[in-house]
Amino acid sequence: MNFSKIQQKLHQLNLGKNSMSYKLVSEIESILENQPRLTLIENAEEYTIQGEYKYSLEYNCCIAQGEREIKLTVNKNFPNYIPELYIFDPPKDIEHIYPNGKVCLATIGEMICFMNENKSFIAFVERFVHAFLYTLDWFEKYKTYPFGDRKHGYRGALEYYLDDLGLTTEQYRKMAAMIYFNQYRGHQPCICGSGKRLRDCHGQYILPFINNDEYKQEFLKEASSILTEDNTHETRNSSK
Ligand SMILES: [Zn+2]
Repeated sequence: MNFSKIQQKLHQLNLGKNSMSYKLVSEIESILENQPRLTLIENAEEYTIQGEYKYSLEYNCCIAQGEREIKLTVNKNFPNYIPELYIFDPPKDIEHIYPNGKVCLATIGEMICFMNENKSFIAFVERFVHAFLYTLDWFEKYKTYPFGDRKHGYRGALEYYLDDLGLTTEQYRKMAAMIYFNQYRGHQPCICGSGKRLRDCHGQYILPFINNDEYKQEFLKEASSILTEDNTHETRNSSK
């Protein structure tokens, strides 16, 4: 599909239904503008951007550039749903890619806290998709991970709550129960034992899951795999 067809297509989309979907469409439009080898497909629920994605990324003064076949899906109700990236033909032995090509971009907690603060699809792409493409490039060259070796599956998910949020496993359980039972009370003492009120401490990481049902479902799915130490859906793609 060429660019003018994409524009036609974008104009057929229900623009202006609400400001968030308008913003999403214009963000997709601006991504496609500079990407002649990407096509856009729309169905009732989501947009799919697919094809050769051209990138030039820099972290810590190292540059990764090239083109890579990707599929990126974004639900029309973004940011209520997490966008998904698929990579085909990944380097052998890389972690964080499921057998169907879906990439484990980051933990649910991390992505949802980010989307809750930055309600922008482009910001999501820059933060998570670009970091992963950079990782892929790096892994092909050096067989290591440029941003540290985050564990795959439930261990990696738990690591985020322990390392980034500074909780113990027991405190994470309290957080999960609070979200499951809708027991958030901002004036109560924080689960981390800091002596501060919840709203002045870890409340900011808990509230997004309480206030948004889609986020809550994602959190609880992740919590159930963490708390049962279940990795069955997260088999590493090492058979290729
Ligand atoms: Zn706290």
